[in-house]
Amino acid sequence: MRKFSDIIGQKAIIEHLYNALRTGSISHAYILSGDAGSGRKTIASIFAAALQCEDLQEEETEEPDQPASRMRKRKLLEPCGRCLSCIQSESGNQPDIITISHEKPNSIGVGEIRRMRADLQIKPYSNARKVYIIPDAEKLTIPAQNALLKTLEEPPEYAVIILIANGLSAFLPTILSRCVVLQTRAVEEAQIASFLQREKELPKEQAAILARFAGGNPGQALLLTDDREFLELRDRTVDFLAHLSRTDAVRISEFSSNIDTGRRDEVLDFVLMWFRDVLLYHSTQKSENLIFQEDIQYIIEAAGMLGFERLGRILDEIDTASRRLRANVAADSVFEIMFLKIRQQYRRRI
Ligand SMILES: [Zn+2]
Repeated sequence: MRKFSDIIGQKAIIEHLYNALRTGSISHAYILSGDAGSGRKTIASIFAAALQCEDLQEEETEEPDQPASRMRKRKLLEPCGRCLSCIQSESGNQPDIITISHEKPNSIGVGEIRRMRADLQIKPYSNARKVYIIPDAEKLTIPAQNALLKTLEEPPEYAVIILIANGLSAFLPTILSRCVVLQTRAVEEAQIASFLQREKELPKEQAAILARFAGGNPGQALLLTDDREFLELRDRTVDFLAHLSRTDAVRISEFSSNIDTGRRDEVLDFVLMWFRDVLLYHSTQKSENLIFQEDIQYIIEAAGMLGFERLGRILDEIDTASRRLRANVAADSVFEIMFLKIRQQYRRRI
C-alpha cells in the first residue's frame, strides 16, 4: 500500500496532512492543486485511506531521496495497510471513499454534483467519514460549482471532499474560500534523480538526464523513462556531440535537418547540458557532478581542446540559437549554424 513516506517532495502538504490527522481537525474540503504528475492523486488517495484506516500508524522515517546533508527524520501518520478499510482502499473498493467520474471529457456538470450531493445525504457505510475525491475539478462548470458550494456551506459532519485540480483560476472565489488549498511544488532534480535510480533501477547518468528534463515533476520523469524516442534522441545527440570537433559539414547539416519539430527544445537542452559539463570539468577537473558521466572521455577531450573563453562563446551560440528558435527562424538552419559555429571554436587558433 502506498504511504506518505513514498511521496517525493511536497513536504509542506504532507506536514499539513500529518497535523490534520494527528489533531483530528480535518477540513470538510481540500483542493490539491498542481501539475499532473506532481503527486496530487497519490496524495489524495493516501489521505483518504488514512482518514478511513482503523489503525493509523505513527511512523518516524527519513525523507526519501534527500542529499545526506539535509536528511532529517520526520513523523508521519500512515494507513496501516492491514485493516479491512485499508485492504478495501487499496483495491479501490472502500465504500466510503467515492471518486466522482464525469461523462463529458471536458466538463463536470451540475448533474454529476447533484448526484454526489444526494449520495452525501446517506450516512457513511462503515466509517466515521465519507470521502469524495473529484479529479479534474478545474472542469467543474459554474452551475456545478454553485451546486458544490451549497454542500461546502453546510456539509454533513462526516463529509470530506477533495478536489484535484491543475490550478486555481477556474474556481469561484466562494469555493476557494471554503477549501484548504494545498499546492504541489516542483521537486528538486536531485530528489527526482535518486527516485528514478531507486524506483526504475536506472544508472546514475540516465536518471540525472531524465530528472533534468522532468521539470520538477516526478510523474513526467516516469513518463520520460518509458519514452523510447526520448532515450534514442539522447543517445543520438550525445554521440553527435562527442564527435562534433571532427564532423564534416554534410553530416552536421544532415543531423540538423533530421531533428523532429517537437523535439527541438530537447536537443538544444542536451547541447547546453553537454557544454555545461565540459565547462564544469574544465574548471574542477572532477567527474562526480557531471551529467554525462558515461561519456567522460569525450568531456575530458573537449575540456582539453576548449578553454574558458571558447566555452563562453559556445554557450553564447547556444543562447542565440535558443532565441532564434523562439523567434521562429527556420529551425534546420538555426541548428546547422550553431553546430558549425561550435565546431569553429574547436578549430580556432588563438
Ligand atoms: Zn488501516
